[in-house]
Amino acid sequence: MSSHNGTITPKPTIPLKRSRLAVEFDGETETVGSSLAPSATPLQTRVASPCTLNPPIDNDGLSWPSLGARERIEQTSEEATAREQRIAGAVKTILTELGEDVDREGLLETPERYARAMLYFTKGYEDNIRDVIKRAVFEEDHDEMVIVRDIEIYSLCEHHLVPFFGKAHIAYIPNKRVLGLSKLARLAEMYARRFQVQERLTKQIAMALSEILKPRGVAVVIEATHMCMVSRGVQKTGSSTTTSCMLGCFRQQQKTREEFLTLLGRR
Ligand SMILES: [Zn+2]
Repeated sequence: MSSHNGTITPKPTIPLKRSRLAVEFDGETETVGSSLAPSATPLQTRVASPCTLNPPIDNDGLSWPSLGARERIEQTSEEATAREQRIAGAVKTILTELGEDVDREGLLETPERYARAMLYFTKGYEDNIRDVIKRAVFEEDHDEMVIVRDIEIYSLCEHHLVPFFGKAHIAYIPNKRVLGLSKLARLAEMYARRFQVQERLTKQIAMALSEILKPRGVAVVIEATHMCMVSRGVQKTGSSTTTSCMLGCFRQQQKTREEFLTLLGRR
């Protein structure tokens, strides 16, 4: 900005706010592009949500539970039935508003079926991390990269309530502690069975693993297809979205990151 006497007064630059998360975990999720535009500028990530700003694991072992997760866990079977009925009632309303005849044979039990399906698709909120990793953390003097590739994930886009699905690849470099390999898939499942955005899912898996093992580094890459994209004509069929989250040495050391990407077959 120029002032009256002709000198230039530069606008003070406001330092970028670093989130608490970035400071504590030195981590960040980024969208690294889709198959349609591999060289496109990475999308801006959302502001960190309470879902990742809060500590990964609560005192009772729940991890970023939804508002009503504890109520769901503690409900009696009568309460569970009543909940299912309420959801089914809402589904009936939706079907009616869409012009359907809810009494025709094919739809007779659809509301109840859908209610049960939605409860299943969101069961990850109820998972207790202590049960998920139960007795599977081992002391081990191993300090080489551990990678589990192609973990299938099925999740729900929280903006459209339709599925997104694909593969997760999880890697870490242990610091005297390793996790049973099958537990990495369980961990991914725990966070995928929720209403999600892919960026957050990626970050939550990485942060949880980091919290459980305190490893030297964690890397998570997810490639997924979003029904809200491919089925609505926004993008061509077959497009997929890739997100990654690198923590610790994967973030700080380019060599480690490159080794990981090479092992994934991305370089
Ligand atoms: Zn969506």
